[in-house]
Amino acid sequence: MNKDSRKAIVWFRNDLRLHDNEALLDAIQSAGEIIPVYIFDPRVFMGNTKLGFAKTGKFRAKFIIESIIDLKSRLQNLGSDLYIRIGKPEEELLKLAREVKSSWVFCNRERTQEEVNVQDSLENSLWAIGQEIRYSRGKMLFYTADLPFPVTHTPDTFTQFRKEVEKYIPVREPLSEPTERFNKLSVVVEYGIVPSLNDLGHEEFETNDKGGFAWKGGETEALRQLKYYLWDKDLIADYKETRNGLLGRDFSSKFSPWLAQGCLSPKMIYAELKKYETERTKNKSTYWMFFELMWRDFFRLTGKKFGNAIFQIEGTKGEDKNEYEHDRDLFDKWASGNTGIPFIDANMRELNETGFMSNRGRQNVASFLVKDLKLNWLLGAEYFESLLIDYDPCSNYGNWNYIAGVGADPREDRYFNILSQAKRYDSDGAYVKYWLPELKEVPCAELHAIYKVDPSDLTKYKLKLGKDYPEPVLSSGHWN
Ligand code: FAD
Repeated sequence: MNKDSRKAIVWFRNDLRLHDNEALLDAIQSAGEIIPVYIFDPRVFMGNTKLGFAKTGKFRAKFIIESIIDLKSRLQNLGSDLYIRIGKPEEELLKLAREVKSSWVFCNRERTQEEVNVQDSLENSLWAIGQEIRYSRGKMLFYTADLPFPVTHTPDTFTQFRKEVEKYIPVREPLSEPTERFNKLSVVVEYGIVPSLNDLGHEEFETNDKGGFAWKGGETEALRQLKYYLWDKDLIADYKETRNGLLGRDFSSKFSPWLAQGCLSPKMIYAELKKYETERTKNKSTYWMFFELMWRDFFRLTGKKFGNAIFQIEGTKGEDKNEYEHDRDLFDKWASGNTGIPFIDANMRELNETGFMSNRGRQNVASFLVKDLKLNWLLGAEYFESLLIDYDPCSNYGNWNYIAGVGADPREDRYFNILSQAKRYDSDGAYVKYWLPELKEVPCAELHAIYKVDPSDLTKYKLKLGKDYPEPVLSSGHWN
């Protein structure tokens, strides 16, 4: 059979883009007819995490729907389309492969267990009908094949990893997006319908910019944000100074949701960074974006190296601390932003209302859950998995492992003192007052440690603890 009469299915997964899409380009090189597909897997969209949270909360579900609509329209501009199915990918793709008599299914390889189970099962059934999966790579900045160590020997600490790669391993250029129109299909394929948020079990809602940013999924928006952050506003030039911010649109890049769904390739960010350094400014901030993207790669490689360990309570260190409390009521106070510790509550309320929280906020609420409340870190990690608009298995569980002290942190017992963190990063109290307007009358000096203020003094701010704002879950002497 010659190339032109061959058909290839391209299964889009967490790579919802046309630029730097190796699977798509490999398919175009191998076959004359391309059938791009996305599958809404009910296990992912309607299922629950082990501890019972919705696996894909409403913010991410909406973001993915928007990303699919955008990808569909970009493919239509090339004379193609994105065919939609709802069901188990291993079954839906097999059906489609039989129907269109394709030769291969091209996709980017996933490395975390649930995704691996799906791709393995599909691979076995495709073999049974004389077809196969062709895997490509697309998640990371570095190619695993370029690394100076096999994945199983990825250094255990980030610093060691960084030292072994940053100066020696080049980041490859992003692949160009296809520009030629796709050939017309010789078979009729049912288009399928993109499900609504309601179909996925969530109430419809309008995105707002209460958190400083009105997120919208899709490659088009991702590329717009890349341009905005680098070229339009030069925000990248001060990234290192602003990245620990909490409030507003511009303190950090906000690339993460697009990176997580693959609407934006890290290699594309890197290529633009290099161009920016040549044409405008090269400084410690432009380097720091590269540094953070290396963290992302590090967690992905750690996920590959340790497999399921990142999802287990013992973490990659294999340390069974067995000292966690299982107080669900206390956890609910943390999750809903009702701990009576303003800095924690403000961050959790932001997460609940927007699906996003700054990195500084994440570090603090995670540390508070594990180190102060002594709760099982998996509760926090799964809650994040459900809510985060930028949830990525390796980045989420890798960071939680780190903070819970069961991961890659070389420092024993890292601890975030919430009160001093709050005073340092929210020194004027603007962030806390924004998310907890009930505290807006409280002077900054008393705000972060409101639980220490004499109750009679609180009346002058029209506040009664336990009524207008929760009593603290920790005794007032906790941080003395
Ligand atoms: P920027 O500061 O602009 O950073 C640029 C990019 O670098 C980010 O988009 C991200 O891809 C990468 N990056 C930055 N910091 C980290 C980090 N610590 N670990 C890995 N990658 C990083 N990030 C996710 O993308 N998905 C998650 O599920 C996730 N869960 C987290 C859970 C906890 C407990 C913590 C402490 C951090 C988590 N992070 C996660 C990392 C980080 O908080 C977010 O990537 C960052 O806040 C996203 O905002 P930004 O894109 O503006 O980041």
